[in-house]
Amino acid sequence: MKRIALFAAPAFCFSITLLAVDFAESQDPAQKSPGYDDGPMLPGQPWRVHDNKRPQPAKVVSAQTPGGPPSDALVLFDGTDLSQWQRGDGEAAKWILADGGMVVNGTGSIETKQVFGDCQLHVEWATPESAQGDSQGMGNSGVFLMNLYEIQVLDSHSNISYADGSAGSIYGQYPPDVNASRAPGEWQVYDIVFTAPRFDDNGQPIRAARMTLLHNGVLVHNNREILGPTTHRNLPPLGGTAVTGPLSLQDHGNPVRYRNIWIRAL
Ligand code: MG
Repeated sequence: MKRIALFAAPAFCFSITLLAVDFAESQDPAQKSPGYDDGPMLPGQPWRVHDNKRPQPAKVVSAQTPGGPPSDALVLFDGTDLSQWQRGDGEAAKWILADGGMVVNGTGSIETKQVFGDCQLHVEWATPESAQGDSQGMGNSGVFLMNLYEIQVLDSHSNISYADGSAGSIYGQYPPDVNASRAPGEWQVYDIVFTAPRFDDNGQPIRAARMTLLHNGVLVHNNREILGPTTHRNLPPLGGTAVTGPLSLQDHGNPVRYRNIWIRAL
């Protein structure tokens, strides 16, 4: 294994590439892994400590550019087209494509054609530089997991609204732990790890949905339990049986922009 240089970004990227090639060339499916067959069993796992029969993790090539999609991600939007998206009524998505992003334009919220449950999601967004309106009327949009659970998108740089409706909030339930908002017009990043709820055969919840969120690289929700679908001035109970659903982006009437959206089903 080659040494990874950490002192300069270009050197780091180059070294990661070397590492990936090095690893790939060293893999032989018939080759027994180094390890042992006499270690103690791991509780709840069919493996021993350092088990030499334990399968290697699948190889994933990370992006050369920070925030870019790794090799096993599904790219939902790369700035070129809306082919992965539709309106809630099944009609074609009509948001505007401009400057490598898509812009909310009053034609309605859009959702992915595919459904997702447990996932890692990367979304970049920007509220309008003009910063018009106030409270919930300033740069409002939202990222809905399973079309049910909203992470609020809002201009919260200098705009005050109710705390559990600010940018990075799980809408109506939890404000972000801190406000990591950038200025209006600047690109911002949500990195999300989402665990869908689980239900028994009678539709009774076994486990609530959970979410971890980094806003511009800052942890603002750490494995937070979601109480139920997010709505305005209400708190519906967790119900139904859905463990997957489309990812949707909200049209709240403000020209919010999105770019570089990718997802990894977990
Ligand atoms: Mg919203």
